[in-house]
Amino acid sequence: MIIQLQPDISNSQKENLIQKVNGIGYKITEVKTQLGDYLIGIGKKEIDIRQIGQMDGIIDIHIVSDEYKLVSKKWKAKPTSVDLGDNIFIKEGEMAVITGPCSIESEEQIRSVVAHCVENDIKMMRGGVFKPRSSPYAFRGLGLDGLKLWYEIAHEAGIKIVTEVMQTSQIEEMYPYVDVYQVGARNSQNFNLLDELGKVDKAVMIKRGISGTIEELLQSAEYVFSGGNEKLILCERGIRTYERASRNTLDLNAIPILKAKSHLPVIVDPSHGIGIRAYVPQMALAGVMSGADGIIYESHEVPEKAYSDGQQTLDFAQSARLAGWIRESFAMRKGFDLL
Ligand code: PEP
Ligand code: MN
Repeated sequence: MIIQLQPDISNSQKENLIQKVNGIGYKITEVKTQLGDYLIGIGKKEIDIRQIGQMDGIIDIHIVSDEYKLVSKKWKAKPTSVDLGDNIFIKEGEMAVITGPCSIESEEQIRSVVAHCVENDIKMMRGGVFKPRSSPYAFRGLGLDGLKLWYEIAHEAGIKIVTEVMQTSQIEEMYPYVDVYQVGARNSQNFNLLDELGKVDKAVMIKRGISGTIEELLQSAEYVFSGGNEKLILCERGIRTYERASRNTLDLNAIPILKAKSHLPVIVDPSHGIGIRAYVPQMALAGVMSGADGIIYESHEVPEKAYSDGQQTLDFAQSARLAGWIRESFAMRKGFDLL
């Protein structure tokens, strides 16, 4: 059960409510986000919600039987719009295009990717400064200094920064320079990290775990929301299956399912999803057609020289074409929606 509270609810009104709900045998968790105050009731008993709905201090009460509650579409039919400032949004009804290298490598590289984004009207740039690598000997990123440099260049050009946070201690130091904290596939169920990101007033994009189910992705998002942060984006990036011909198996089925289950925006990462440069555009466009609200893909001035993930990275000419196709396909999809 989700009880949406009035912003001006008094302490005694809240106490009355909690007592009433506890009395029915429901355990209550209080949630306070940037946008609202909620009481989450967990219990099994059938209840007549009218008894509670008439009490003082309530906006509305909803029965949500899913394991995840606050990210469920069952109580909030209106899609969540994540506002990154400067009129840049990740939300249903728009198509977010996010591109950039796997890893931030140098000032020169940052300048060339930022220029590529500006030329192609791409408003969000991705790139890792803290890199989760399967091998400890691989390039692990430029760290905070790299992020600061990136921020100076991107901010001046009006480009938003999407970058991975790997551990709780990085959240605060990254905060001034980040627009979207990315939670990587390997950290998708790092519940301490998710809890701490709940305390931050900045957007968080959660990638699906390498072997994570759709339900688990939604539960991870529930951690952040119930921690206090509603600015959430879900990302399908492929899962580990028995198939070895592609890096991962991009689960496009997840897109309409996530959109049906949750009010959060959903984006697709075809680069990690298939892991093969030549097939990234096809899978990106398939992602658009499956109902995604955005596409995030890797690009680099010379992909063959990229420090990481070059094999799945587009060059700028390919990226420019793909960005155009993504927008055209999205316009076509909107046409279908009207039929
Ligand atoms: C990345 O975006 O470069 C990355 C490491 O992604 P994932 O966490 O999906 O593997
Ligand atoms: Mn990568």
